[in-house]
Amino acid sequence: MTTMSKRDYYEVIGVAKGATPEEIKKAFRRQARSLHPDNKDSGDEKAFKELAEAYEVLSDENKRASYDRYGHDGVKGSASRFDNFDFSGFQGFGMDDILESLFGASMRGGFGGARSGPAQGAHLRYDLELDFLEAVFGVEKKITVKRLDDCTTCLGTGAAVGANITTCQTCNGMGQVKELVNMLFVQSYQISTCPQCHGNGKSVDKPCRDCKGQGLTRKPKDWEFKVPAGIEDGSRIRIGQAGDKGPHGGPFGDLFVMVQVKRHKDFIRENNTIHVKQDVSFSMAALGGELLVPTVDGTKVLKIPHGVQTGTKLVMRDLGVPILNSPNRRGDQIVHINLKTPTKLSREEKELFERLAELQKEELHIDSSAKSESQEEKDVSETKNSSDSTSSGDNGHGSKKKSKSEKNKASKKDDTLLDKLVDVFRPKDEN
Ligand SMILES: [Zn+2]
Ligand SMILES: [Zn+2]
Repeated sequence: MTTMSKRDYYEVIGVAKGATPEEIKKAFRRQARSLHPDNKDSGDEKAFKELAEAYEVLSDENKRASYDRYGHDGVKGSASRFDNFDFSGFQGFGMDDILESLFGASMRGGFGGARSGPAQGAHLRYDLELDFLEAVFGVEKKITVKRLDDCTTCLGTGAAVGANITTCQTCNGMGQVKELVNMLFVQSYQISTCPQCHGNGKSVDKPCRDCKGQGLTRKPKDWEFKVPAGIEDGSRIRIGQAGDKGPHGGPFGDLFVMVQVKRHKDFIRENNTIHVKQDVSFSMAALGGELLVPTVDGTKVLKIPHGVQTGTKLVMRDLGVPILNSPNRRGDQIVHINLKTPTKLSREEKELFERLAELQKEELHIDSSAKSESQEEKDVSETKNSSDSTSSGDNGHGSKKKSKSEKNKASKKDDTLLDKLVDVFRPKDEN
């Protein structure tokens, strides 16, 4: 009954009856942009659904022909598909994403790209693990994916050698059947895929044994593609039409390559910045000098200014990760200085440190007459426990941990990064 009050689809989209597919597409997109519910000024959910329904019919050669001949009754199946469509999930999506989710592959393939009959093949997924440096600089990859494609034995016909291929009697080779559907007051035609030949329009008396008459088998195929410099862990690369072939001559699905980036022993990546930790001796920290530091471009000389502390950050410009899609611009490398306290001193070194303490008028021990030796021992072990309860009892180790936790307190905003750094570099400390 609603059929009676339905607006003409051409009128809804705003084109003449004889409009070309391109004109329909253009007019639709212009209207869709303005009517979409996310559009605060002119959005209109009801009108948008009506528009989507009209477009679904007029953008499809077969449905449009049926509509031209039988009116709304000729395309009963496609109506009401949008009635319960939920638009709330589309905030922040581009119009293309929305259209794609509404119309699937037929929208993406553009006009005449996808036929309405046979369905598109399945999308496939491939997990690709990249080395840290491959992700930084990009890399050419060749992968092998097993996908459904035309059976080589029967060349996709589904027929065995010597089989008779005849035109399907049910659909007369059209691949589609028109069924008369009795509605409440009207009789209407519905067009659907032929149940006998599943849309290919042919009938085979002896099916191919390799593909059981399906015309498709799963076989490996190589794909070569470029992974762009600066790609991040968790990115997705789409290779169009590299998925399964659809049944009965349907188009290929796509292949989605899911990128995983391995960790590196020296580098930690944060967007386009690379962080490294660099141990610096007391002498170097006090006097300054030069050090060889690992970078993704190889070892480079870094000037250490005198007076650096644990936690001092030195920037090495343009030695970070290239910006995705503009590889001439790069992030920086940040070197986190870590003062290395010597744990084993030679006799001579010990004397020099004592001499240094003397020069700086530093008292290394509390006057022993004020405190007993046993108390002193106890104090030291308490300090260690408070900073690290799992301390192995190694003196140098314990005190270093303590200095790290003090540093964490001092610069709260770097907490997560420092945690990451500490976590990554911990195995090295324990050697
Ligand atoms: Zn076959
Ligand atoms: Zn048929």
